[in-house]
Amino acid sequence: MNRTVEKMNRFEELIAEIDDLHCTISVLNWDMQTQMPKGGAEARGDQMSTLRRIAHEKLTSPEIGDLLSNLEEHEQALPYEGDEASMLRVVRRLYSRATSMPGDLVFRMSQSAARANTKWLQAREARDFSVFAPALEELVQLRREQAAVLGYEDNPMDAFVSMKESDISVDDLETMFDDLRAVLPPLVARVAEADDPDERSRLMRGDFDTQKQIDLGMAAARSIGFDLEDRGRHALSVHPFSITFSPDDVRITTRVHPEYLGSCLFACIHEAGHGLYMQGVPTRLRHTLMDSSTSRPELGRPVSFGVHESQSRLWENTVGRSLAFWEYFLPIARAFFPGQFDGATPEDLYKAVNVARPSLIRVEADELTYSLHVMLRFELEKEVLDGQLEVRHMAEAWNDKMERYLGVTPPHDTLGVLQDMHWTRDFGGGFQGYALGDVFSASLVAKAESEESSLGDGWADGDFSVLRGWMQRNVYDHGAKFEPLELMRRATGEGINTGPYLKYLTTKFEDLYDL
Ligand code: ZN
Repeated sequence: MNRTVEKMNRFEELIAEIDDLHCTISVLNWDMQTQMPKGGAEARGDQMSTLRRIAHEKLTSPEIGDLLSNLEEHEQALPYEGDEASMLRVVRRLYSRATSMPGDLVFRMSQSAARANTKWLQAREARDFSVFAPALEELVQLRREQAAVLGYEDNPMDAFVSMKESDISVDDLETMFDDLRAVLPPLVARVAEADDPDERSRLMRGDFDTQKQIDLGMAAARSIGFDLEDRGRHALSVHPFSITFSPDDVRITTRVHPEYLGSCLFACIHEAGHGLYMQGVPTRLRHTLMDSSTSRPELGRPVSFGVHESQSRLWENTVGRSLAFWEYFLPIARAFFPGQFDGATPEDLYKAVNVARPSLIRVEADELTYSLHVMLRFELEKEVLDGQLEVRHMAEAWNDKMERYLGVTPPHDTLGVLQDMHWTRDFGGGFQGYALGDVFSASLVAKAESEESSLGDGWADGDFSVLRGWMQRNVYDHGAKFEPLELMRRATGEGINTGPYLKYLTTKFEDLYDL
């Protein structure tokens, strides 16, 4: 056998083993979050960290390093879009990131995160950020150290943004948020002055049987094309999530609130949106570390959270909260909950699922205000990491920005700066993916509309195949071969373009609120 072929075979064999380990960790994780009794926590933690360590050792082994350098010439000669060249490119990036982080720093960070978590819980209890601030300060110092090791150009935050979003920089995000900042706060203020949102959402509130809610959510997931029979499963969990063990085995979860129908239903559509992406990645990319749809942050893989989120938000908001969807789905919802929707029209439901109001809590925010919550966190992270803002002044800075962007002020820190657990684990680069997802989603839909004149024609009859087919060809088919901006440029001709997103929100909410 040719020496290069032999090396490539060995390389693929090692990568397949690493992939198997990570998929096994995902199975354990799924079980932990959906089935495991509380008592299993300690042993499960050990099991998962052992597998993680083995996977890390395999990825950073000298053999992988040698193979990558021996195969460099081979890679140059291969077509860029091809599976082999792409796999080598993706693994090269993972390898260099994984080998650059000193073990001692990783250990100090995990210790510091555990302390920060305890302090965060105490601070929430006391409703006082100053209880958490010293622990956060320590974490921020370690993050600066980590950024220095990873390398960055202007702002330490760049190191963390590129871990999550690969070829996207802090500068790119600042430009994106500048656009959002110019348009959204005034629009939100106009919506806030419009009529009573409680009255609008009345149809989604009541007493809803929990099992029926899950069944309704699964009906919605099936209708957009998520395969629940042979390649998918569903369970309940505290926080909804999706996870994949291979493109042929994708799991989604939801949660249920007995008094509010929207919580379970839209979580199901959101997670099924992630799931469609995962099921859509070609099975031949399994075992290559290129089925980008799986998020395995422990590998620091070049999965873009933004692109992933673009798919879930597309199905949840652009489709699930559209008038055409409710023309199709209202009779189905009525069959599940007889009496609840008597006399209601699709337009009534369209209004009920699109109530927008400035609010304090990100995870409860609506489609219109969500990205402002994200922007606020991005700004604070950046200002703290580059030394413009001291950690001890973060609570005031938070409240100030809330007032400026959303016109609301938290009554205490637990409903403000202490609301997200993210900052107890890592600080910087953890939030922007949600806003990127919205912006990408709108750009992708705009491009799909320009290429497929019949894009929305079937929605009112429950046929979403034209939209799904376009996403399949332009997003799912590529797995993680391309970095996010690269993928967006190939699909839409542009990188980050806020135009379609801002136009979509403005048109939709001016219409909904008669502005
Ligand atoms: Zn999501």
